[in-house]
Amino acid sequence: MQHCVHSAPGRRTFLVRSLAAAGLTGTVPVAPLAATGLAVGNVTGLYPVEVARIATPRSTAEVSALLKSWPGRVAVGGGRYSMGGQVAVQAGLHVDMRRMDRLVWLRPDERAARVEAGMRWRDLQDHLDPLGLAVKTMQSFSNFTVGGSVSVNAHGRYVGHGPVGHTVRALQLALADGSVVEVDAETDPEVFRAAIGGYGAVGVITEIELDLAENVHIERVVEALPLERYLEHFRTRVLADPRAVLHNADLLPPAFDAPVSVTWVRASADKALTETARLVARGRSYGLEQNVIWAATELPGGPSLRRKLVHPLLMGKPVVKWLNHEASLDVAELEPRTRAMSTYVLQEYFVPERRFLGFARAMATILAAHDVEALNISIRHSPADRVSLLPWAREDVFSFVLYYKQRTWASARKSVGRWTRELIDAVLRHEGRYYLPYQLHATPSQFDAAYPEASVLRRVKARIDPVGKFSNELWRRYL
Ligand SMILES: Cc1cc2nc3c(=O)[nH]c(=O)nc-3n(C[C@H](O)[C@H](O)[C@H](O)COP(=O)(O)OP(=O)(O)OC[C@H]3O[C@@H](n4cnc5c(N)ncnc54)[C@H](O)[C@@H]3O)c2cc1C
Repeated sequence: MQHCVHSAPGRRTFLVRSLAAAGLTGTVPVAPLAATGLAVGNVTGLYPVEVARIATPRSTAEVSALLKSWPGRVAVGGGRYSMGGQVAVQAGLHVDMRRMDRLVWLRPDERAARVEAGMRWRDLQDHLDPLGLAVKTMQSFSNFTVGGSVSVNAHGRYVGHGPVGHTVRALQLALADGSVVEVDAETDPEVFRAAIGGYGAVGVITEIELDLAENVHIERVVEALPLERYLEHFRTRVLADPRAVLHNADLLPPAFDAPVSVTWVRASADKALTETARLVARGRSYGLEQNVIWAATELPGGPSLRRKLVHPLLMGKPVVKWLNHEASLDVAELEPRTRAMSTYVLQEYFVPERRFLGFARAMATILAAHDVEALNISIRHSPADRVSLLPWAREDVFSFVLYYKQRTWASARKSVGRWTRELIDAVLRHEGRYYLPYQLHATPSQFDAAYPEASVLRRVKARIDPVGKFSNELWRRYL
C-alpha cells in the first residue's frame, strides 16, 4: 500500500488499536484516550486532539483502502484552520488530505475545474490566473483547502454569492465501507447536501468540481458611517451596485458602533493599477502587520490604534488591483510572533437582516461586560443557503466575524466559554445561528436550537454510515 502512515509504536498505541478492533460489531468503538504522542492541532495552539494514527493518502484509492482497513473511528483534516477539534477524533484515525492537492482538470470555456480536496485555494489560483480566471467564492484568505472549505460551507466577502456550496457542481466521496461515489444535486441530493457543510460526517470528499469566475480589476471604496445607517448603506450603495464585487465593514473596539465600509467595485478600464502584482507572493514576511496587531492588543491606547491610524490610511489611498491579488491573501499576515501565552481566535454569528441592529448592540454589550480583547468585528452579507443540509443562512443574513485575543491558560479558556455561550444565546434570541468551525463552547441544547436540521443529517448519516465510522470532536459532542 502506498499511503504514508505515521504511527507511534509502543504498548499504548497497541492498546488503542486493540480496543478499537475489539468492538467491531455494532457502533464503531471509541477507545479511551491513550497517550500515543500523536496530537492533531490547529492554528490557535489550543484544543489539540490525541489520535491513534495519522495517514496521508495521495489518491482516492488510498483513502478507500484506509477506510476498509481501519476498524475504529475516522476524522478528516484539511488545512487545520478550524479551532475546536473538528479535524480529529480521540483515539481515531486522522486522514490528512493535504497531499491530495492535484488539479484533475480545468475547462476554461466552461469556467469549471475539478480538483483533489486537499488542494489549497492558493494552489488553484496559480492554475487559474494565467487564464484570466478566478475562484468564484472562497474565504478572505487563500490557505484553506478546497475540501475543508466545502465541508464547512465557507463564505467570503463576495457580494451576492452566499456560501461556497453554491459553486460546487459535483463531489467524489469515499464512504464508510470504502466505496467511492460521484454525487451532485441530481444523482444523490441528500448525500450531496449532507457533505457540503457536513464537517466530514458522511464521508471523505476526495474530488470537487467547481464553478469559476473571471479575474477582473477592482477598486477599493471606503466610507465611515454610523451603525444606524449601515443597513440602508448596504442596500443602496453595495447590493444595488452591479459593479460591487467584495464587501465588508469593520466594527472596532471599544464601542463597535461606527462601521467602516470597504467595498471593492469593478474598476473602469481607464483606471491604472496601483498594485501590479497579480497574486500575493508566497512566503512573504509580515513583520509590520505583526507589530500592528501586537501594539493594538498590548499597548495602552492600543485598541484605538486602528481607528486613529490604520483606517485614515485606508481612506486616503486609492487602490486598484486584480481580484486574484485580493483573493490570495495569506493568513501569515495575522500570525502573531508567538502563541505561547495568548492566541488569536475567531467566532462568527449570522442574523437575519431585520435583526442586524439589535444583534450588533447586544454583541457589543456582551463583549464590553466581559472585557473581551476583541480586535475587530467584520460584517459581511450572504443570501440564503440553497444547498447545505445544515445551513448557517436559512434566509439572507448579515454575519459578524469576531477576531479576538485570548490567554491560553485554563481559567481564560473557561471565561471564553462563558461569554461565548452568552453570545450564542443572544444570536438565538435574534433568530440567528453561530458558525461551527470554531471552539466548541456551545451546549448541546444551543446546538440543537441553532441547527434543528441536524436531525435530517443524523438520518442521512444513519443510512450511509450506520456504524458511525466518521466522527470528530465536533460531532462526538453534538451529533
Ligand atoms: C484566519 C482565518 C480566517 C477565516 N476566514 C473565514 C472566512 O472568511 N469565511 C469563512 O467561512 N470561514 C473562515 N474561516 C474558517 C475556515 O473557513 C474554516 O476553518 C475552514 O474549515 C478552513 O479550511 P481547512 O482546509 O483548514 O479545513 P479543516 O479545518 O482542516 O477542516 C474543517 C472541517 O472540514 C472537514 N474536512 C476537511 N477536509 C475534508 C474532506 N476532504 N472531506 C470531508 N471532510 C473534510 C474536517 O473534518 C473538519 O470538520 C477562517 C479561519 C481562519 C483561521
